[in-house]
Amino acid sequence: MDVFERIGGDDYEQVVYCHDRPTGLRAIIAVHSTALGPALGGTRFYPYATEADALEDVLRLSRGMTYKSAAAGLDLGGGKAVILGDPGTDKTEALMRAYARYVDAVGGRYITAEDVGTTQADMDLIRRETQWVTGVSRALGGSGDPSAATAYGVLHAMKAVAKWLWDDTTLAGRHVVVSGVGKVGSNLTRHLVEERVQVTLADVNPAAVAQAVKDFGVEAVAVEKAHALACDMFSPCALGGVLNATTIPELRCQAVVGCANNQLADTTSALALADAGIVYAPDFVVNAGGVINIAEELGQAGYHRERAYAAVRRIFDTTTTVLATAAAEGITTAAAADRVAERRIAEVGRIRLIRTPGGN
Ligand code: NAD
Repeated sequence: MDVFERIGGDDYEQVVYCHDRPTGLRAIIAVHSTALGPALGGTRFYPYATEADALEDVLRLSRGMTYKSAAAGLDLGGGKAVILGDPGTDKTEALMRAYARYVDAVGGRYITAEDVGTTQADMDLIRRETQWVTGVSRALGGSGDPSAATAYGVLHAMKAVAKWLWDDTTLAGRHVVVSGVGKVGSNLTRHLVEERVQVTLADVNPAAVAQAVKDFGVEAVAVEKAHALACDMFSPCALGGVLNATTIPELRCQAVVGCANNQLADTTSALALADAGIVYAPDFVVNAGGVINIAEELGQAGYHRERAYAAVRRIFDTTTTVLATAAAEGITTAAAADRVAERRIAEVGRIRLIRTPGGN
């Protein structure tokens, strides 16, 4: 494989291969962009079928983080890391700490966090070897599990869409279908119920459905019917690819606003949604609450929940900007989100070229 051709195509800055024979560590750290600040992104621990799959995943995810942080108004770039292996059998203290030393060696250009296959306990282990880690436990001054902040951000994206569609931020009396009631979906359902929204939920896991129905006293629907239910907003909070050629013609909502990553199956999905008259709030704008919350750990003053949640509430403004940009420039909301991020990288990234006495 021609790695330079691949990383040159999307302008990646740095790709680091990490290897430690005694622990069996094989990891790849990708720094897509540091134009706005250090590249923040989680560490995924996953049994990739091939090394090429692992490289492709880390590249795709790190670029996604550049866009997410840029659109969210953070002084952060985009990065990600993958550890090749099965977290259930291959993860040891020594391996995680060996990995952490490689993170340290990247010198703060990359800052890690939790992702699929890694936990808060892993972040605490990494913290013992490097300061370049976020999402450590509250006992270590961290912000803890980001899911609650992510859900809080989704709520504010929904309010922005409500304002856009109905000229009123109030969600009370609206009907929202939440598909996926895991960590984020259940927190979101709680907020919506508090706002007196009619919620219908769905999940492939019957235990998760039963728990949420019991906790929140809401209705449930079969997963395969969730997207086709008549409602005001459909909120995908499980897996990616949920907005595709089959589901989009069946949608009976006015807007899609959810936390799931990569909701659009392909490049035609955003256009199909726009043609159907459905407002799509782009996933990486809507679900940035977690990274905004984590970014607060990096500030001089340390993590402060109220300040972090005030920052998360700004997702209302970002969502509004994206919807307005799409309308003004005659493009899809997905394209508008990319444009908002790219403009900020170009405009704010450029000011770093102005020399200061500190020389940074
Ligand atoms: P989670 O694993 O806690 O919950 C996912 C839920 O979806 C589970 O209850 C699962 O049973 C259910 N599910 C799986 N397949 C489904 C399907 N086909 N239909 C309906 N339900 C299904 O995950 P989470 O942390 O709540 O994250 C949900 C989504 O949001 C993911 O796509 C994740 O990448 C994204 N996200 C999460 C965060 C965060 O802070 N946790 C931040 C940004 C983005």
